[in-house]
Amino acid sequence: MKKDDLIVVAGAGGFIAGAMVASLRNKDFTNIRAVDIKPLDQWYQVVEGAENLPECDLKEKDNCYRVAEGAKEIYNLAADMGGMGFIETHKAECMLSVLINTHMLMATRDVGNVERYFYSSSACAYNTQMQQDSDLTALKEEDAYPAMAEDGYGWEKLFSERMCRHFREDYGIEARVARFHNVYGPFGTWDGGREKAPAAICRKVIEAIDTGSDQIEIWGDGEQTRSFMYIDDCLKGIDMLTHGDVIEPLNLGSSELVSINQLVDYVEAIPGVKLNRNYKLDAPKGVRGRNSDNTKIKQCFNWEPSTTLQEGLKHTYEWIMEQYQARKAGKRTVV
Ligand code: NAD
Repeated sequence: MKKDDLIVVAGAGGFIAGAMVASLRNKDFTNIRAVDIKPLDQWYQVVEGAENLPECDLKEKDNCYRVAEGAKEIYNLAADMGGMGFIETHKAECMLSVLINTHMLMATRDVGNVERYFYSSSACAYNTQMQQDSDLTALKEEDAYPAMAEDGYGWEKLFSERMCRHFREDYGIEARVARFHNVYGPFGTWDGGREKAPAAICRKVIEAIDTGSDQIEIWGDGEQTRSFMYIDDCLKGIDMLTHGDVIEPLNLGSSELVSINQLVDYVEAIPGVKLNRNYKLDAPKGVRGRNSDNTKIKQCFNWEPSTTLQEGLKHTYEWIMEQYQARKAGKRTVV
């Protein structure tokens, strides 16, 4: 890639794509088209020097053709999504993101001269029946089939992965796919219903300290397990996968498995508090256990995400604290 080749980043008003635009600018790429359906004042990061296209609905085919014009690389990170609280209650909405990937792939095929197309899939594409136990074996890439993905959101991801594959086989699109496992870090959603566990726990601890409460609400019994990948590792992985030769979907996630109770321990340790945990057993919980098997990514790239959860949480907690205080002071924040 030359520094002035056009790079299109879809979903740039959101967490991961916003961080990606910032990182591309830091690497001196000068021709970045950042696209999102949200108005600019709701973008999590607005990066100066990028061509920012707000209020652009990429479910619409014409918009995809317009934004793909002249692109050398396209990163499709746009999706209508959120944490468990969102995807368990908005299944149809999640599935409609299929239009984004469909039209972006068609535009890639028909417009210009795209050398690489990246699609962000999810660990939710994996067979949910293999994730009933908190003490699970980590998920390998082949465990997506036979398919029984997470209802709504996960099926959309699996179908869209498959579409990338067939556009590659039939039309020669150089599509690359990563299955992200929970990504967290600064500039992510931290309140409002779409936030995921690390940000939600940080916010709840901050709130408890601020309000003088000694209580924290935990969704489920806290023994469900997950792994969480820090945003910097995610961006590095996207770069490697996009420019590498692995054409099958690859796990991109941390392999450091923790229970939600351990996650709360880690967050509480940052300010040095201990709260009483109220377990909300009827809240959305998702699968019982999920971890990333990183054998393949290590074989292919001699690398895996390595930021420890404790280290990544410190940065995240500090950032959410700033956001929390800014909101209290009536300033604009990311939610
Ligand atoms: P996010 O919600 O912060 O960002 C997604 C962005 O896409 C939002 O800004 C949203 O406005 C935009 N968008 C939605 N519909 C659109 C449309 N029709 N046209 C244009 N833009 C549209 O989410 P994120 O955490 O940054 O996730 C990015 C990608 O990674 C998504 O595909 C998501 O499914 C995937 N993913 C994320 C995680 C995670 O833990 N964050 C895990 C697995 C997969």
